[in-house]
Amino acid sequence: MKASLPKKADLKDSRFEGAGVVVFSNDLSFVLKAPEYLREVAKKMKLRVEARADRSLLLPPGDAKEKIEKIIKSANMTDIFFDAYGSKVIIEVEKPSEVLGNGLEKIMEIKAKTAWTPLIQRKPPLKSDIITTIRKVMTKNSKERAEFLNQVGMKIYSEGKEPKWVRVSFLGAAREIGRSAIFVQTPESRILMDCGINVAGTGEDSFPLLEAPEFRIDALDATIISHAHLDHSGFVPFLYKYGYKGPVYCSKPTLHLSTLLQLDAIEVAQREGQKVPYSTKDIENTILHSITLPEEEVANITPDVRLTLYNAAHILGSNVIHLHIGEGFYNLVYTGDFKYGPSRLHEPATNQFPRVEGLIMESTYGGKDNVEISRKDAEDNLLTSVKEILKKKGKLLMPVLGAGRAQEVMLILEAAMTENRLPKVPIYIDGIVWDSTAIYTTYPEFLHKDIRRAVFSTEKNPLLNPIFGRVGGQKEREDIVKADESCIIMATSGMMTGGPSVFYFAQIATNPNNGILFVNYQGEGTLGRRVQRQPREITMATRGNPRTVIPLNAKVFTAGGLSAHSDRKQLVAYVGNMSPKPNNVIVVHGEPGKAADLAAKIRNTFRIRSSAPNLLDSMRLK
Ligand SMILES: [Zn+2]
Repeated sequence: MKASLPKKADLKDSRFEGAGVVVFSNDLSFVLKAPEYLREVAKKMKLRVEARADRSLLLPPGDAKEKIEKIIKSANMTDIFFDAYGSKVIIEVEKPSEVLGNGLEKIMEIKAKTAWTPLIQRKPPLKSDIITTIRKVMTKNSKERAEFLNQVGMKIYSEGKEPKWVRVSFLGAAREIGRSAIFVQTPESRILMDCGINVAGTGEDSFPLLEAPEFRIDALDATIISHAHLDHSGFVPFLYKYGYKGPVYCSKPTLHLSTLLQLDAIEVAQREGQKVPYSTKDIENTILHSITLPEEEVANITPDVRLTLYNAAHILGSNVIHLHIGEGFYNLVYTGDFKYGPSRLHEPATNQFPRVEGLIMESTYGGKDNVEISRKDAEDNLLTSVKEILKKKGKLLMPVLGAGRAQEVMLILEAAMTENRLPKVPIYIDGIVWDSTAIYTTYPEFLHKDIRRAVFSTEKNPLLNPIFGRVGGQKEREDIVKADESCIIMATSGMMTGGPSVFYFAQIATNPNNGILFVNYQGEGTLGRRVQRQPREITMATRGNPRTVIPLNAKVFTAGGLSAHSDRKQLVAYVGNMSPKPNNVIVVHGEPGKAADLAAKIRNTFRIRSSAPNLLDSMRLK
């Protein structure tokens, strides 16, 4: 490394930052010209190389802050964090384009005048505690974080042999939905793709089968999370609780959303007296060990595996995972949850890759009868149900998952109200749905190109429309229920397994003018699934009474066709249009009948080997 740098680099120190290298120099003029000098080195070494100033050159934070504020005045700086150990400064501004435009002139000026390397971040248009929390955890522990990233790099670039085999084990979500956990092994690497919980589970079947003989938490090299939903990310902090010290790879929005959902899950569990598998300390540890990756950029994650994340169109920052194993030895794609069809929020999932041999895909709606209606009909149906309740001046409850459907439905309602196709009533967004909406507005670059521009602008952003009101706490919830006004309420949890949606339900269910509208999948055994069948009464736990009988007079609706999952036709088309074609398709994340049936359909249609493994099945891929 040193040998390939120009002499004048005056190198003080160098270390890995995950899959990249940072060199620290005593010569500021070298740092300023570094991108030019280092391009060739990076190419030769096949990794990202960046130069920053040695700590001894840094202007004291107070002075640096003053200088920076002057340089980027027009961008409206709102916050600033100094990371002395990494010679970096994180600058939060309202208008990033004011800093990043003009050939990065202002970035260069900051570097030249302060020696700090600036990272520009957009101020979230809605306040989000999660974004602040994550930044604090990272900067507070910057030395620990830097040492961790260096260790990760050393491990990745240690000597590795070309693999002779690839094997996969299914530790969860095989012929079931929930607790996704797929374990990939080569002679050099042990990688876990997703580590979720079964939100509809009771006791033992809630968690992935980490006791499988081939799996050891302390021997794990890397964990990759496809998206933030708890059935894919909810068990990650448990790994840290039991001694995992490696990295978690995911997209930036996934890190933010999964932290939000994990914190909420343990809070709800504690409040409701359920067992909590990990603590906030373990969640903090997860943040500290997270490495976020941009989409479609190849990253080395072990000596013989390269990872690339692609758009999965399921929720913000959801990814299809591509593993390139060895030097072209084997290529495995894992879809996570994906939408291969139209939506307001995302462009359809990617199915074009440089190489593919094995494909692991979901089958939530893989059954013969899972035929999705057109997007237009789906939106019309949703609005018809909403109108019916608003006409009766009732209250409409939508139990939603914190992220995904909620924001999609918000866009549909906002458009309908703005265009006067729906009476204007308040739409209450309860706690965590609001927080995840804030994260959606922070990362417009992960959204559909048609709404990206609107979300970038504060004036036109549909998610910032004042028809949406935040519900902050229990007192406000009670006021909403009591108030003599028609309204729409969006609240977690989406399957009514806990959280405010259960509270609202118990309060509004007896009034025939009210309604409950389901917009996402209801797991077997959940309260949501029971309500969906519209029985005359529901026996459920409320505060103070574990067996309260509630007459269900409110009307129950299910809005079809808005799913963030692919329907049967889209699942089959995803494989049919995939380039290149896989030679082995493994179907997971579906009820037993649906997973097996989709596997058979793929086998018969495309003459590709296809199966639906059972829990704890292992398979040699090559
Ligand atoms: Zn999901």
